[in-house]
Amino acid sequence: MHKKSRARTRRRRAHWKATPPLLVKCANSACSLPTPPHAACRHCGMYRGRQVLPPA
Ligand SMILES: [Zn+2]
Repeated sequence: MHKKSRARTRRRRAHWKATPPLLVKCANSACSLPTPPHAACRHCGMYRGRQVLPPA
């Protein structure tokens, strides 16, 4: 039996835990930067047309 390489181990379906960050374009037309959906934009601090965070 050969030792299983880290690359082979990591390719197993059971090890696919981390998912790429889901990003959508910011609804604020003045910003339009990629931002996670259903969360305040980290760039302009807007969520559903309201300022909810201090703009960065
Ligand atoms: Zn934004």
